[in-house]
Amino acid sequence: MIKTKQKLRERFLEKRKLLLSDWVKRNSEKINRRLLSFPEIFGRRNFSVYLPINNEVDTKTLIDALLRKRVNIVVPSYSKESRNYFWAKFLGWNNLEKGPFKILQPAKIFPVDSLQIEVAIIPGLCFSKTGTRLGYGKGVFDRLLKKTNAFKIGLAYDFQIVDNLPKEIHDLAMDAIITEKRVIRS
Ligand code: ADP
Ligand code: MG
Repeated sequence: MIKTKQKLRERFLEKRKLLLSDWVKRNSEKINRRLLSFPEIFGRRNFSVYLPINNEVDTKTLIDALLRKRVNIVVPSYSKESRNYFWAKFLGWNNLEKGPFKILQPAKIFPVDSLQIEVAIIPGLCFSKTGTRLGYGKGVFDRLLKKTNAFKIGLAYDFQIVDNLPKEIHDLAMDAIITEKRVIRS
């Protein structure tokens, strides 16, 4: 199982590395717009999002739209003290600093409990059509969203959708996956 997951990670990391920045931008915007017209998010006031690295689906259009709606946004943050990830309020583009793996996170921290999150927007290396997700292999989102009842939406390019993925007991299940080509509900 662990070996299969690792092989898939290498394959999908490699594929994503080869994407051109124009392609990433264009398709990310399509995905963001599709997400913003997704009925399940209407009226929701509490979102978790991520700040992308390594050609992950960009979330800028989404975050800017959510900021204009004045909804609450949280992002994963790493604490050196507790050596753990937690959720922190996203307070704007000028309150960010680099955390582990050069992922941006709030500089000034306001922690938020994961139970507050109504809609969770999640990145991944690939997803199965039934909503299983493969991450970088640290289980960060599995842990961060373990206790929530949030509606979980994976963002991916269509080539990141596979028929089957190994699933372990701790793996988060997506309620929907949005790509530039389709919406997959599980
Ligand atoms: P990813 O989700 O990033 O692809 P994995 O699902 O393979 O990574 O998980 C990586 C590690 O994190 C595993 O060793 C797993 O046991 C651990 N892990 C995942 N979720 C939890 C959890 N809720 N509690 C404790 N450990 C967890
Ligand atoms: Mg996992």
